[in-house]
Amino acid sequence: MKIKFCGAARNVTGSNHLLEISGKKILLDCGLFQGGGRAKAALLNQELLYDPKDVDYLLLSHAHIDHAGRIPMLVKKGFRGKVFCTKATKELANVLLQDSAHIQMQDAFYINKKFKGDKVEPLYKDVDVKKAMELFYTHEYTQKFKLDEGIWVTFYDAGHVLGSSIIVIDYREDGEYQRLTFTGDLGQKYVPIVNDPYQVKESDILITESTYASHLHDSFSGVHDDLAMIINDLVARKGKIIVPGFSFERTQEFVYVLHELINQKRIPQIPIFVDSPLSTEISKVFDKFKEYYDEETFRTFVDKKQSPFYFEGIKYIKNVEHSKKLNQFDGSCIIISASGMCEAGRIKHHLKNHMSDPNNLILVIGFMAKGTRGRQIVEGKREIKIFGQRYPLKADVVIMNSFSAHADKLELLDYVKNIQNLKNVFVVHGEETECAVMRDNIYNVLKFKGRVDVPHQGEEYEVKGGETRSKLGLRRKKDYQELEELERRNDKKQIAKYKQI
Ligand SMILES: [Zn+2]
Repeated sequence: MKIKFCGAARNVTGSNHLLEISGKKILLDCGLFQGGGRAKAALLNQELLYDPKDVDYLLLSHAHIDHAGRIPMLVKKGFRGKVFCTKATKELANVLLQDSAHIQMQDAFYINKKFKGDKVEPLYKDVDVKKAMELFYTHEYTQKFKLDEGIWVTFYDAGHVLGSSIIVIDYREDGEYQRLTFTGDLGQKYVPIVNDPYQVKESDILITESTYASHLHDSFSGVHDDLAMIINDLVARKGKIIVPGFSFERTQEFVYVLHELINQKRIPQIPIFVDSPLSTEISKVFDKFKEYYDEETFRTFVDKKQSPFYFEGIKYIKNVEHSKKLNQFDGSCIIISASGMCEAGRIKHHLKNHMSDPNNLILVIGFMAKGTRGRQIVEGKREIKIFGQRYPLKADVVIMNSFSAHADKLELLDYVKNIQNLKNVFVVHGEETECAVMRDNIYNVLKFKGRVDVPHQGEEYEVKGGETRSKLGLRRKKDYQELEELERRNDKKQIAKYKQI
């Protein structure tokens, strides 16, 4: 079997790995590169490291854009195979890809208007999304299905977002049976709505994410107490809470906890506005796929004939005029609005209108990447630029990092530790330093006797009966560490020698 790492290699976005098993080409995810500079992301997104016409199947771990966002482009460039995922992922992908197509089209329009020269084409349009969705097929968790001769696939709940999967591929090659497990994004335990990640118990090869390989999250158990205190305090001083919300999963989890606190009468029933067309659509999908909820969600809401997301006092706003009316709203309320990192969307208006009032509070419940407006808020900047003007930030800022949708350092290590028979581990989906920490911890903390690789973008490996050979010819941990040292020193001559092996 061959594996070529075509995205999320020493990077968190653009998840895309190409497998070749018995002559069949199978993609794991086909996500969009995001961040790290618009131009760089645009370049990476345009370039596929294989011919889409040659790909037979695509296995999709979940609907996040950094995992699914290039599927319409793949189809536009000639992919005619089948896409497999869970039912919830299919429906969520449809909503998110339509949204992504609109962003691509708006971006191209803006660039063409602003800059003269060659016209920029959007990566894909809504018609391409439609064509792509026709290739989607669904399977449920734990239901093993035959992908092709000698290749079987099973999805297990990754507990990351609704419908997310760990993908297990059992295959027969040259008379030998092997198992490859791809974690996709692994969820954090004990968060609401989704189940805890399913523990795969045995596998020969593992491709694992490493987003938070060096971080520990705050426990989710304190979220209710903290939120109740914050909200009651705000109501007492008649303030408003502005929440930059990530539309998919984080917003629904936050609404879930608010609903629980209202039911428990720990907070008053103040108006809650979810001001985002995308969150509104996604919440509908969440409400539809109850079979994906964990037991706790059933006990807390479904068994009592309640929906976690729809209750008295909550309003989902799609219409722009209704959104504008929120500016005149008098009294305490909670406004959840996108985008999560405060770079685009209606949150900018809400920040502009409310952040200069010391009675208000900005509640950060998600990761704010470097260079974003959200990061400035987190870093305590007292002046924020919005729509070209500077506004004083006098509102309180509270950061809650328990809402993470990713496993942390200990959960990731624990996951690897509990897989028997592992021979090869590939660490992906993490910044370079996180990948390195994950690799070192697998060797040093878990005392792993197999081989751990941190692939580069475009690097290809061949795995045969537990033996791995990279195109770089790196067969041992020592060699790998030497190469990294050479790369650190930028010793091009010696690196070239390695590549000739
Ligand atoms: Zn994800």
